[in-house]
Amino acid sequence: MSIAELLNKSEFSKDEIIQLLKAEGEDEIILFKHSAKIKEESVGNTVYLRGLIELSNVCAKDCLYCGIRKSNTENKRYSLEESEVLTAIQFAYENKYGSVAIQSGEICSTTFIEKINTIILASKQISNNEIGITLSCGEQTPETYQKWFESGAHRYLLRIESSNEELYYKIHPQDENHDFQIRLNALKTLKKIGYQVGTGVMVGLPFQTIEHLADDLLFMKNFDIDMCGMGPYIEHRKTPLYKFKEGLLPLNERFKLTLRMIAILRIMMKDINIVATTALQTIDKMGREKAIQIGANILMPNITPGKYRDSYALYENKPCTDENADDCKNCIDVRVHLVNHKVGYAAWGDSKHFSSKKTKTTK
Ligand code: SAM
Ligand code: SF4
Repeated sequence: MSIAELLNKSEFSKDEIIQLLKAEGEDEIILFKHSAKIKEESVGNTVYLRGLIELSNVCAKDCLYCGIRKSNTENKRYSLEESEVLTAIQFAYENKYGSVAIQSGEICSTTFIEKINTIILASKQISNNEIGITLSCGEQTPETYQKWFESGAHRYLLRIESSNEELYYKIHPQDENHDFQIRLNALKTLKKIGYQVGTGVMVGLPFQTIEHLADDLLFMKNFDIDMCGMGPYIEHRKTPLYKFKEGLLPLNERFKLTLRMIAILRIMMKDINIVATTALQTIDKMGREKAIQIGANILMPNITPGKYRDSYALYENKPCTDENADDCKNCIDVRVHLVNHKVGYAAWGDSKHFSSKKTKTTK
């Protein structure tokens, strides 16, 4: 079947997804045109913002790909003070970002849980209950997820990293601290509690095949996710996976493959929220804008105080680490307009997929 014929279908099999993931040249252009059209029809050309706060690079985990893993002793560790987080949230509110996303290394101490809780409550207070809150603080107990939800967090991002259990264990240490089933159960718990749930994978990992990626897309569809954050894997010198560097796809291929993943997911799940991730911008200066053109509808401008940004180095050459929130603010509008989109200021920009599921169940 040609790509054009394939795109007339409403559901794809694994083999069909593989064919789409391999689309190049003219076929890739057809795929991107189609995903852009689907996006325009289902979520429109508004891009919503989540001011990204990288709360802490202290992490109890040792994921084999991540630059802030516990065993990287060369990393200078930091945790933002509550007041610094609230200043950033105030900035987001005053500049009409609509939402913030709080991301952190994984810590499960009572102090950390309470700190996040206080921040959620205070954010609602300083923003007249208006600021939307996405969390991405890893695996926590159901009680913690519930507590944060009741305090006002309503979206949670937890990437499955790979939906293939065998590959999952190749990119994580094999111990009780890095358990595939626990991660999967955490996603199920978040959904049950009522969060808008986002997941995603890294694209171009060592040992990853095109079949794995097709399965990842089917996993997201079957799990019925509300949001997705997917980015290219970028190697970090101080991580165990670095030694597999020679076998990786070149960076520009990882970039193109990530765009195709986003385009196909947009076609498969028309009304979810898809983030144009920072890792895309690391490879291509216009990476996030290109993702917006073919399917993404969420941007996460970094509003972490500039002095900490170098230390949240998940991978090398992370962009904008020498900037402050004000610098990002100035370039968002310009960049989004460059690709004929507009910014949805002062709005949550929730997942339409989530709202329509809710309407169906309450009818
Ligand atoms: N600690 C939480 C967690 O792991 O879910 C949230 C923060 S973690 C730094 C956010 C995401 O960064 C991870 O889900 C992972 O996909 C991504 N990441 C980590 N190392 C990366 C790398 N070398 N290249 C690309 N993305 C990476
Ligand atoms: Fe920690 Fe998240 Fe990095 Fe894993 S990916 S080491 S959990 S910060």
